[in-house]
Amino acid sequence: MQVWPSAKIRVHLGVALSFAALGLFGAVFSAWPWPGALVGLVLGAAWYLWMAGTYHKRRALVANPFPTHWRQILERRVDFYRQLPIDGEARQRFEDDVRIFLAEQHIYGAGQGPQQLEVEDETRLLIASSAAILGHGMPNFEWPRMRDIVVHPRAFDEDYASEDHADIAGMVHYQGPILYSKRDLALGFRRRDGHNVGLHELAHVLDMADGHVDGVPVGASWASSAPWLEVVTDRLRKLRSHRYKKTLRDYAGTNEAEFFAVAVETFFERPHKLRDDDPELYAMLRDYFGQDPAATPARRGPRQFR
Ligand SMILES: [Zn+2]
Repeated sequence: MQVWPSAKIRVHLGVALSFAALGLFGAVFSAWPWPGALVGLVLGAAWYLWMAGTYHKRRALVANPFPTHWRQILERRVDFYRQLPIDGEARQRFEDDVRIFLAEQHIYGAGQGPQQLEVEDETRLLIASSAAILGHGMPNFEWPRMRDIVVHPRAFDEDYASEDHADIAGMVHYQGPILYSKRDLALGFRRRDGHNVGLHELAHVLDMADGHVDGVPVGASWASSAPWLEVVTDRLRKLRSHRYKKTLRDYAGTNEAEFFAVAVETFFERPHKLRDDDPELYAMLRDYFGQDPAATPARRGPRQFR
């Protein structure tokens, strides 16, 4: 996410000053000079606040030291963060993305009144880390203004009840909230097994951001291009006839949207396996996300809580 895009802000400032100048210019040749000047100034100020206010808030936010206990949680729970060089630009950018995401998104627990689930920092940081991981290779990428993010204590069913049979770990409504099971979110960061509901649901958000739920993420240079559609069609056919290697879990065969979301989980959690088994799919995701996670040495075994 961009903290202070100077060129863009200069353009907004230029437009705002133009409004003000037009107002003043009109005032000189008007029978009622002050209303004209005032309208120009108000329009200019409103334009600037609307277009650049977010960046002023972001710049003030990242000027503060990153909370030490947040850093400790990220070190302990987020492999991706721990692998970024200490004191390097990449780690700084990850931290900035995390706190901007937390400042601009509305995360709260399911339930009401005394029954409402309290969402502690660790859960918030895992959600924000999911966004920071996906966007890390796209510094200019901006998440669409998100809906509410509601945290349930554990898996839930279609009625959002956490009964014994419930098996939904996360969900994105097309124009509604994003729902997470806190327990499954934590599990996703505990093991590198291709299951990470944090990444999965935000991958759906990338898919939906262009207005279509079709497994083609927003901003992809290969969006709707024949090679990608051919790859998806081919892999879906193989998944459904059990002729695809066990690289992606079976759920990827549900439809195009789930194929993309599961492929994203695998790309970040088991990149070496995906690169070796399906280099064509790996290369497309690498180009889209601007990251090459298989370029770092493979780690062995699931990581346990520390
Ligand atoms: Zn899904």
